[in-house]
Amino acid sequence: MKTIRMNDTKRIALVAHDNMKKPLLEWALYNKELLSRHELYATGSTGTLLSGSLGVNVHCFKSGPLGGDQQIGAKIAEGLIDMVIFFWDPLEPHPHDVDVKALLRIAVVYNIPIACNRASADFVISSHLMHEPYERMVEDFEAAQDRRVASLQGKTS
Ligand code: PGA
Repeated sequence: MKTIRMNDTKRIALVAHDNMKKPLLEWALYNKELLSRHELYATGSTGTLLSGSLGVNVHCFKSGPLGGDQQIGAKIAEGLIDMVIFFWDPLEPHPHDVDVKALLRIAVVYNIPIACNRASADFVISSHLMHEPYERMVEDFEAAQDRRVASLQGKTS
């Protein structure tokens, strides 16, 4: 195991499917003061709506169906996103369902908090850990990969 440090200022990614944008915007507006103390990232349309409604800077990736979910997943893998608020729609299929699943998966792989509904988001944002550094535990994937490559080299030589 190793740890990745999350600073007291968190890098938060926000995503909402179309039917969930209103609930996310309402939640974000309610928590505006707290959210504005952190660095905000979002998929394209969610981010544009958020920055307009909150009047805060939001770094916007591409729209979710056009690769935005994957961009957030890549940032998580690089250690550049600390948490995700993802109001995905449980009642409608989406063309990018595989991307949604991939984002949920990579968040679990890297042990980052991911809130998928309003109650979870309330619990996450009201945690005292939002204002403190936190050492997030993750597998030592590099060491595991080195061992796997060494074992594959043994099998292929
Ligand atoms: P959007 O993407 O914020 O660009 O609408 C969200 C999504 O559907 O993943």
